Amino acid sequence: MTIPSYRPGETTAADAERLTTIHDLARVLGIDATQDALSRFVYDQTACGAWIAMVRAETAYRVTGVRLGSNVEGIDVAPPERLLALPFTLAEFRAALTEIEDEVTVIWRRTHGCLECGPGDPETGLRSVREGCPACGGHGRVL
Ligand SMILES: [Zn+2]
Repeated sequence: MTIPSYRPGETTAADAERLTTIHDLARVLGIDATQDALSRFVYDQTACGAWIAMVRAETAYRVTGVRLGSNVEGIDVAPPERLLALPFTLAEFRAALTEIEDEVTVIWRRTHGCLECGPGDPETGLRSVREGCPACGGHGRVL
């Protein structure tokens, strides 16, 4: 995932800033504070094509947080949603998306495979999908 001002292992001032409104989040991401812009950003910046939904106070229009999640292509299983209540930091936002990406990878590997790609990992039981496999094109199949 590529988020502005992020270098692996580096903590920036923006990482630790308490984002108290959805406008603060949009500003540090360099996008507009709209659902469309947030959705496009999160989808584009995650390998799993994650989604984001603004959470609003019941009695007001004010955004109180965001829900984050992802679907796994081809199956009905998804990682648990994350709820980030404002205020949160960019580091917490990034960590939630990274956790979702990691869980999607595990779910995908548990549910996709291809006999032609070769056997799974004997320790983890996860099947490996081989790049360039002629049977599945390196994309695996839903098991
Ligand atoms: Zn294959």
